[in-house]
Order: sequence, then structure tokens, then C-alpha cells
Amino acid sequence: MTISFEILDEDINGRCGRLKVGDNVLKTPALLPVVNPHLPVIPPPELKAMGAGAIITNAYIFYRSSEFREQALSRGLHDVLGFDGIIMTDSGSFQLSVYGDVEVTNRETLLFQKAIGSDILVPLDIPTHPDSDRDTVVKELEITMDRIREAREVLGPEAHLAGPLQGGLFSDLREETGRALGDMGFTFTPVGAVVPLMESYRYRELVEVVLAAKRGIPSSSCVHLFGAGHPAMFALAVAMGCDLFDSAAYALYAKEGRYLTTHGSMKLDELSDLPCSCEICRHTTPDEIRKSPDRIRLLARHNLIVTLSEIARIHQAITDGTLWELVDERCRGHPELLRGYRALLGHGEQISARDRISKRRFFYRGSESCLRSEVTRYHDLISRFFTGRRALVSFERTSGSFGEPYDSVFWFRPPFGPYPPELHETFPIGQSELPDWDDDMVRAGCKGIRALITSNPECDLTVRCGPEWVPVVRQEIQGVTIDGY
Ligand SMILES: [Zn+2]
Repeated sequence: MTISFEILDEDINGRCGRLKVGDNVLKTPALLPVVNPHLPVIPPPELKAMGAGAIITNAYIFYRSSEFREQALSRGLHDVLGFDGIIMTDSGSFQLSVYGDVEVTNRETLLFQKAIGSDILVPLDIPTHPDSDRDTVVKELEITMDRIREAREVLGPEAHLAGPLQGGLFSDLREETGRALGDMGFTFTPVGAVVPLMESYRYRELVEVVLAAKRGIPSSSCVHLFGAGHPAMFALAVAMGCDLFDSAAYALYAKEGRYLTTHGSMKLDELSDLPCSCEICRHTTPDEIRKSPDRIRLLARHNLIVTLSEIARIHQAITDGTLWELVDERCRGHPELLRGYRALLGHGEQISARDRISKRRFFYRGSESCLRSEVTRYHDLISRFFTGRRALVSFERTSGSFGEPYDSVFWFRPPFGPYPPELHETFPIGQSELPDWDDDMVRAGCKGIRALITSNPECDLTVRCGPEWVPVVRQEIQGVTIDGY
């Protein structure tokens, strides 16, 4: 049996799903805490008790370790780590990206991963730095693809093998590679070599890379964003269609005395209070943690709880159809995340193609909301409205007479646009909550009126609006009759 992935619920391009690996099932989105056997800040059994159903460890560390190699070979990885959930192993690619060389071949690491009982095996792909030129990326991508093909030959088609996706910053290469891996039958695809982007807050480029990869990867594949561990960016990454993350951040940040929150990290030394409701923060003061000999473990536990809680929050948001609101909230925590969010909104067509039709609600949260998939989807829907020869779009919702014989009357709800009164209670019109109308939302709504005009070119359309909106309507919709009341 290969790795299987079942999608249960969707919102934007995010999914709640079930990843089945052998007898183990993992609810996604999920976070795989990174475990270093030499320095387990939180021991794996404790990770399981905290709610981690899967972990990731580095096979290369076991391979090179005089202490762990034989133990792992004779007792198996699960026994050595004391973890009965899913264990994914990285191959040594990480060391390759840091040191430029590893003392293991692709075949050797794959056979070793298999021998120690890894649940998800990764070939020795080349994590090409995102700033590499195209020639380098192409050359290294060819080597990676050769190694993936070799992995298939060495382990057979039923092996629990991940197909890592490289391609640097080149969207066409990422997309082609995603398609090629899908054609090869991979159902588990880590998007690789994006850590340098995340480390330097290059979220706009991260969005371009991931969306390009997603255009190629079959939608039925589970997508792992390799090396993503900061909870502030999970909502954005899930909205793009990433299902798995792996975090070394909870432990690395703890060692550096950093305290994770969903809107960034803080230095423990600068904290006078602990703004979190986890059991550690409720029963300890910052000063007690600073002075504790157990300081790193306490911080790491808090960091991991925050990270796992964010995953739970994302699950709920997908179920409710409110993921856009969570993305909006999180991405306002850092200007570069906001750039990433805007880049995602810029791919309206790709995003709305897979977004669900009905959701719990639409809360307007500022001009970015005008670009959300609910709005672009609604604008597409408008092309199905038939107006007749004479039609009215009225900003004021009234059932009274308009003094003119119209074949059809539409009401207006920004940022969506015109709607037939009978759709008044359907999504998104009926479930949208707006503050006082502003220019941006009315302009977006005018786009909806333009869509109505385009799909009904014979219609003589009048827009009836208050005097404050006349200049905007005149600017946005050329040649329309405006009746300012
Ligand atoms: Zn806490």
C-alpha cells in the first residue's frame, strides 16, 4: 500500500484530510515536530502525549551515529525513539544544504531508512538554494529527479516514498516538476528548499513558489511544506494547499530563549508577562522560567503547544469556512506576511477554482477582502444573470416602485455587486457582514456591475445610488445611466 490521502473538507485551497500510512492515520493539516536523537528537548513519548501524531527525524544522523546506528538497525526507529505514531525520515538533504556534502549515497540512505523502519522515506534530493541561477536549478533538478526514479527502482512502487519537489524560484520548473511527480504516482509531495525564503521573511516569493508547485501537483496529493515551523505563517500556507509542516522551531527558539506566539516571537528576557493560556504560562512567571534549570524544556513545551493549537484553530476555520479571516488576522502580524497574503489574493483564478461555494460567513476586514475568492467567484456567477432590455441596479434596498418600467431590478451589496432580490438570503450576500461602505468595496461591487453589463450587452442599465457614490460609479462604469437620488 502506498501512502493514501483523503480530503474531508476544504476552504480556500486548504484541506482537512486523513493521511494513511500503513496502519497509522494522521489528521491533516498536521505538524511533525523535528526530533534530534542526540538532543531530544522534548522526548518523543511526551510529544505524542501533547498531541503530535507524527514526527520527523533525520536518518543521516542515525546513519552516522556510533551511538544510534546499530540500535536503530536492530530495534527499529520506533522502539529507539519510543514513538508509535508515524515517523518520517529526512535523508541527509538538510545536511547537504548546510554543509554542501554528505557521506551517503541515495541508494544507501533509502535502504537504511527502510532497514530502520521509517514510515515515510525521502530520497536524497538536492535542496537547491532559491537564489541559484536557472542553469544550476535545472542541473540539480535533473539529479533530484534521477534519484527519485532510482528510489522507485530500489524500493518498489508500493514503498512509502515521498517525492520531494525542487525547482528554485522558477515557477515553470516547480509546476512541471509537480506534474511529473503526479504522473509518477506520488501521493505525498514535500515542497523543498524554501527554508531560506522563510528565514528571511520572503513570503511573497514563497507564495509564488508554492502556488506554482500546486498548479502541477494533483489536488489529491498530500503536500508537505518542508521546514515550515513558525505558527504565524501556517494559516497562509494552508490556504495555499499545504497539508503538513515540520517544526524544529519549537526547540531551536527555546534554546535561544525565544517565546513563540501566533503573531511572531518574543525574547523571554524582555517579557514581563506570559500572554498565553497554556499550562506552563498559567502556572509560571517569566522570571521563574528564566531562572529554572528546566528553562529550555519549559519554553519548548510552550512553543509546541502554541504551534499545535494553531493547527487546531486552522482545522476549525476550514470546517467553518472562515479560513480567509484567520489568514487576514495572522498576516497582519508582519508586513512581509501581508505581502504574501496580497500575493495569494493576486492569484484569484487559481484560488477560487477550488474554493468551496458556501461558507458560514463573510466578514469584511478591509480592502484585501475585496479580492477574496468569495468575491471573484460571485463576479463569475453574475454572468448567469439575465437582465432583459431594461434593468436597474439599486444601491438602496427597496421594493417600492422606481417610476420606470424595468424588466429586472437588482439590489447592490458591495464588494459583490448586483444581485436579484431572491438571492438576498443566500451565501455570500445574506451571510456578509460589512462596516460602513467604503470606496474600495463599492469599486469592487462596480466590477460586479460591469460583469452584468458584459454578459447582457443589449441591456440598457441604470444604476441608482446616493449622491456620495455617483463619482465612484461614474469612474468605474463608463457609459451607464446614473440615477442619483
Ligand atoms: Zn504558553
